[in-house]
Parts: sequence; C-alpha cells; structure tokens
Amino acid sequence: MRRPRLPSEEQYGGIAKLLRGAGLRPTQQRLALAHLLFANGDRHVTAEALHEEALARKVPVSLATVYNTLHQFTEAGLLREVAVEGAKTYFDTNTSNHYHFFCEHSGQLMDIETGAIRIEVLPEAPDGMAISRVDVLVRLVDKSTS
Ligand SMILES: [Zn+2]
Repeated sequence: MRRPRLPSEEQYGGIAKLLRGAGLRPTQQRLALAHLLFANGDRHVTAEALHEEALARKVPVSLATVYNTLHQFTEAGLLREVAVEGAKTYFDTNTSNHYHFFCEHSGQLMDIETGAIRIEVLPEAPDGMAISRVDVLVRLVDKSTS
C-alpha cells in the first residue's frame, strides 16, 4: 500500500503562518485542509465536499475531523459559516460582510458583489439587543423552471 503523503510544513509555510496567526497549531491535518481551502482564492465548501476533495488528494482524514477543523477555523476567524435553510452549512473563505446567491438546483453558493444590494431600513433591535449582522440569501432557479 502506498503511504499517503501530507504536505510538509515547509511546503506550506504561508499557510502555517496563517494558522499560527489565528492561534491554531499547524498540525499536518490542519495544514492539508487549510491548503485545500485557502490556496486557490475564495471558496464556499461544505464539510462533505471538502472531505471528498481531501480523500481524492490522498489526505487521510475522517469526515468528523473535517467538521471539527472547519469549526475551529471558523471560531478562529479564518472562515465564515453560511447556513442555508433546508440544506447544508457552507464555509466561506471570504470572511468579509457580503451576501450570497444560492442556486437551488446545484446547491452552489456564489458571492454577490458588495453594493449590489442596499438595505435602506432596518428594524430597531429588541430591548437590550443589537444587530450583529444581516445575512441575505438570494435564491436562484433555472429560468425554465421558474
Ligand atoms: Zn461568500
């Protein structure tokens, strides 16, 4: 059996720095998953999709570890969690405040350009509370089925 190979810390020095900067120890598994997440621009991934990707790259990691790692990255501020009602949770490498298109057919999540949606009026928060963030999800269907 071929031994699975994980990226060495040297190979992914920038990613190790990113993890350390967020207060996370750059373990082999974290490095490998962070490389998949952050090496190729902004992405929206589910734990299941990232797990499949990891296995395809011969990164020996369980789905539970992928879940835990994604939640650790989110808590450390490296990812933003986007919950789509009735579907899965997506993890977004773009942690800035932005809105999303959600394609109901493919399950794909896409960023909406900042400024393309303007919210003119917000309700007062209930007593003792403040608004922390507004999430907007614009759902898409194929034109032929709408
Ligand atoms: Zn996004």
